[in-house]
Amino acid sequence: MTPSVSVSPRDIITVDVEEWFHGHNYLDHMPPEVWDDQELRVEKGMSLCLDMLDRFGVKATFFVLGWTAERHPGVVREIARRGHEIGCHSYGHPEVFKLTRDQFRADCERALEALAAAGVDNPAGYRAPSFSITPSVHGYLEVLRECGFRYDCSIFPIHHPRYGQPDSPRRPFRLDGPGNPFTVVPMPTWRFLGVNVPFSGGGYLRLLPWPAFRFLRDRAHGQGLPCLIYMHPWEMDDFRPRVGQSSVTSLRSQGGQATMPAKIEKILAIGEFETLGQYVGRLEESGQLPFQVLNS
Ligand SMILES: [Zn+2]
Repeated sequence: MTPSVSVSPRDIITVDVEEWFHGHNYLDHMPPEVWDDQELRVEKGMSLCLDMLDRFGVKATFFVLGWTAERHPGVVREIARRGHEIGCHSYGHPEVFKLTRDQFRADCERALEALAAAGVDNPAGYRAPSFSITPSVHGYLEVLRECGFRYDCSIFPIHHPRYGQPDSPRRPFRLDGPGNPFTVVPMPTWRFLGVNVPFSGGGYLRLLPWPAFRFLRDRAHGQGLPCLIYMHPWEMDDFRPRVGQSSVTSLRSQGGQATMPAKIEKILAIGEFETLGQYVGRLEESGQLPFQVLNS
C-alpha cells in the first residue's frame, strides 16, 4: 500500500479536450478514418466550459488531444490566454495498452509536435485516453518521463471492463529510477469495504445523483485525496449523436449528459480549487512523496 502524504486535499477540474466521437465507446462506429467526416463540436463545448470556469474564477487543467490541437489551434491558444494549464492527451486517442512501447513513444512525440505548433512547449502533464496505462503497460510511464513530462494522471485503480486495475496505487507517488523527477497522480476513489469507489468524472459523475457525489467527494477528501474531476467539452454541449450503439454503450457514452453542466456549476460553487500542476508542485514540495516503481 502506498503511504499517505499529508498535503491537504482540494478540488481540481481536468478537461480532456477532444471530439464527441473520440470516446472509445464510439470506436466500433467511428474509426479514425471517418473522423474528418464528422461534425466537429469541440469549439462549442470548449466555449461553454471556459466561460463557466471564468464565471467562478477557477483555473483548470486541460489535456489536449494532438489531433484536435492540429485542427483547432485557436482553441488551444484560448485556453492559454485565459490562464489555464495545458497538458497532453496523446495524438490519436489510442488505447495505450494496445500499443508497443515504440508506438506509444511515436504517438507521444507526434502529440508534442502538434501542441508545440499550437504554441504549447513542454507540457508538464499527460493523461492517457480512457486511463489506458493499465498494469501490462505501467512500464510506459518511463517513456513519458523520457519525453519530458513531469507528471501523469492516467491510472484509475477501479474495476472497469476496459481500463480496470483495482490493485494499482490509490495515492500519488514519485516514479523510482533514473531520470527527471516524475510524479504519478492516480484518479481519486473512496475506499470502502475493500473496494475503490469512483465518483469524479465521466459516466460516474453524470449518473450519480448530486447528494451521492457530494458524499463521495467529502469521503475522498477525508481519506486525503483531492476531488479530481475529469470531463469533456462534449458533456457541456446539447449535441446528442445517434450512432447505433447498444443501450449499455449509449448509457456509458451519453447517460446523464444533460445533468453535467449543472453539476459542474455546483462543484465550482462549493470547491477550493487548484490546477493539477499546482497540486503536483505541492506534493513535490512536501518532500513526502514515496518512491515507487510499477512493474509491467
Ligand atoms: Zn479522451
